[in-house]
Amino acid sequence: MIEKGNLISEGKAKSLYETQNQNELLMVYRDDTSAFDGKKKEALKGKGEINNKFNAHIMNYLGANGIDTHYIKTVTDNESLVHKLDMLPVECVVRNIATGSLTSRLGIPEGTVLEKPLLEYCYKKDELNDPLISKEHIYSFGWASKKEIKIIDETTLRINDLLSGMFRGIGIKLVDFKIEYGKTWNKDSEESEIVLADEISPDTCRLWDVKTEKKLDKDRFRK
Ligand code: ADP
Ligand code: UDP
Repeated sequence: MIEKGNLISEGKAKSLYETQNQNELLMVYRDDTSAFDGKKKEALKGKGEINNKFNAHIMNYLGANGIDTHYIKTVTDNESLVHKLDMLPVECVVRNIATGSLTSRLGIPEGTVLEKPLLEYCYKKDELNDPLISKEHIYSFGWASKKEIKIIDETTLRINDLLSGMFRGIGIKLVDFKIEYGKTWNKDSEESEIVLADEISPDTCRLWDVKTEKKLDKDRFRK
């Protein structure tokens, strides 16, 4: 039985609660939906449950393929137990096809298939609209070390390969997605490990139908 303790954070779509285990958190997926860094908000009934289950499936799949994830288990329809991590204030975006901010920022035509996956980093700061940053910013401000970024880049590309294949198998193109990483939190240990955190769901990925290019993700809400 998982005890739901103090609320420790309430983000735009999820709430985190302490549990009886200081290294584990209860992640509650709410129905709240936001876009444009929280400027557009709405509650979509059942969204929390869908994202929780979607994410659980993906985290299990990645875990089975050797990726270290924070996911432990699903607790209820909209709650999962995760390892508590020290989050890096960096969002990692992978792009396979140009759309969204890549198109508006650089004028790359919408739908251009990229020769190889493009990795981007953003500083996780809603007040600043999560600005695009370079690795040098990450090193300069100590948001992650070179060693950690090497692990993050390799893991992110591996996740892209695994998920692109998984979605292709069901007729869906993985256009782009955002992931976050944290470090294992253990007050008795000097060592820390980089672990995939947060969620992977239609809120954080762009997914297009292979045949019709119909958008199957949060862009439907954004637009
Ligand atoms: P946002 O912060 O973008 O509004 P959410 O509502 O999804 O987003 O909030 C989830 C928060 O939990 C995010 O700040 C995310 O970085 C953080 N988080 C995700 N996984 C973990 C974890 N395993 N341990 C601690 N914090 C986490
Ligand atoms: N993304 C996200 N959270 C963010 C910003 C982006 O999950 O705060 C995801 C988004 O769903 C897309 C990818 O990252 O799959 C790239 O998004 P883009 O930079 O094109 O941003 P947007 O068009 O959302 O501003």
